Amino acid sequence: MAGVIEQLYELTKEPKIAYFSMEIGVHNDIPTYSGGLGVLAGDTIRSAADLRLPMVAVTLLSRKGYFIQDIDEAGRQIERPFEWDPSRYMELLPQRVTVTIEGREVSLQAWQYNVKSLTGGYVPVFFLDTDLADNQPKDREITAYLYGGDKEYRLKQEIALGLGGVRMLHEMGFEIKKYHMNEGHASFLTLELLNRFKKPIEDVWDEKLVWDKTSVKNLCVFTTHTPVEAGHDKFPYDLVARVMGEIIPVPVLKDLAGKDYLNMTMLALNLSRYINGVAKKHGEVSQSMFPGYEIHAITNGVHSFTWTCDSFRRLYDEYLPGWANEPELFVRIGRIPDNRLWEAHLAAKRDLLGLVREQTGDELSPDVLTVGFARRATAYKRADLLFRDLPRLERIGAGKIQLVYAGKAHPQDEPGKQLIQNIFRYKGLLRDKIKIVYLKNYNMATALKIVSGVDIWMNTPLRPLEASGTSGMKATHNGVMNFSVLDGWWIEGHIEGFTGWSIGPPPHELAPGADADARDAEDLYHKLEHMIIPIFYDDRHTWIRMMQNAIGKNAYYFNTHRMMRRYVTEAYIR
Ligand SMILES: *Cc1c(COP(=O)(O)O)cnc(C)c1O
Repeated sequence: MAGVIEQLYELTKEPKIAYFSMEIGVHNDIPTYSGGLGVLAGDTIRSAADLRLPMVAVTLLSRKGYFIQDIDEAGRQIERPFEWDPSRYMELLPQRVTVTIEGREVSLQAWQYNVKSLTGGYVPVFFLDTDLADNQPKDREITAYLYGGDKEYRLKQEIALGLGGVRMLHEMGFEIKKYHMNEGHASFLTLELLNRFKKPIEDVWDEKLVWDKTSVKNLCVFTTHTPVEAGHDKFPYDLVARVMGEIIPVPVLKDLAGKDYLNMTMLALNLSRYINGVAKKHGEVSQSMFPGYEIHAITNGVHSFTWTCDSFRRLYDEYLPGWANEPELFVRIGRIPDNRLWEAHLAAKRDLLGLVREQTGDELSPDVLTVGFARRATAYKRADLLFRDLPRLERIGAGKIQLVYAGKAHPQDEPGKQLIQNIFRYKGLLRDKIKIVYLKNYNMATALKIVSGVDIWMNTPLRPLEASGTSGMKATHNGVMNFSVLDGWWIEGHIEGFTGWSIGPPPHELAPGADADARDAEDLYHKLEHMIIPIFYDDRHTWIRMMQNAIGKNAYYFNTHRMMRRYVTEAYIR
């Protein structure tokens, strides 16, 4: 314990940026993330540690995790709880704070996990935990399940994260110079800050308060992540009154968070000096969703070292030493001989085929063009677009392509679960013609194997619903080209026939019409047949040029080192 206290003392000497996120993927075996948002948070922190930024992070412990996914032969998802032991990875700290929930004082403790960089820097992540003996049994569960439970449960979690988090950092002795809210889940932190800055007006006979919004705004940065309306948490005020009580007077709260219900996004928008979306297009979409606010855009990235497979790490170490902490060195990708690039790719492909064999018993061929599609199984991502016209797919792809799928559906997302079953059905229908595998329990470890081991990475979201997307950026770090709908980051990364291929119309065409699926599928089949398959089999030289471009033009830019430098110069130090 003495070591932990000394370490905290050292840490608190310098003012910090506090990064708040409901989920953070710090480690594959720590189930405190569900998908893109949490992996991005982890990559953000990994780059901050590499760059030695003065940052600390706050999240919830999620002691019972997100879930482990099994899939039966019919493609039905089976959810198993992921219980883990924090003491195997983290240090429990002595500080305690409380938040009031349903009138009860609920105690919080924190576990510290240090995200360490090879450069010697590190960023401490504090995992908040209500599983304490002095709390009532149901309060001990507040930090148990990531995205579990109902609205009331979510509200309690957000109270723990926002109010509890700020109180915990204060109790530990930190001076915070910026609070960065990664999505609206953490925006209750602004209420704690408002209370801290309120000023009584002394000359008024019935004591009045001035709510110093400017001081709070100057401390806060907000990143919004979804153009999907349902993605923004909203709570009815009667629920808020019952569960949270009156942190600030109701009229003041309604003024900041919305008249009819408490909208976490509105609260963050109204109390942040700097607000951004996660790709240029997403910044524009968010700007039209929230007129009256100035919305910037900082396009996401991925942590280069984390998302590069072993064979490519070795290759880059040999030809581009220093690349991991300076991804700009990818500009020199042309120095790597073609045959070495191809061999590194084949090594990654063999590795993936090994995982496929081990998990499914299916034997895929290293010589066949392998298309990867792995992401959250949810309707707008259209995992089954490729199967729209089965006879056509069969004619184009029989013997020429094989498919690797993966992805979890949220336990309450029935259409998402149905998508997984559909893919199993197509797998049966196309048996012996086009091999299809669905790998279970998509997580950071399987993600790396899939994004590096396939030949192309496909993404088919319905525009403009993909805020950014990051798995395609991971693919480019391993010389894998994207074949995707022009949405999110790919609008910025795509050069047709050079860094990869688009699917469907250009992004400036307005919202897709009812025929979007048909149009997008048509383009997908056309390019697969007339461009991708011929280049892969008959023009290896061009294929390898494109692999180089994926690395030299996409990975070069779409990494979290570049992203963090922008957050520092545009959001944190202003
Ligand atoms: C990168 C990653 C994601 C996010 O991928 P998208 O392209 O944004 O859908 C989701 N889940 C895991 C496990 C990941 O590694």
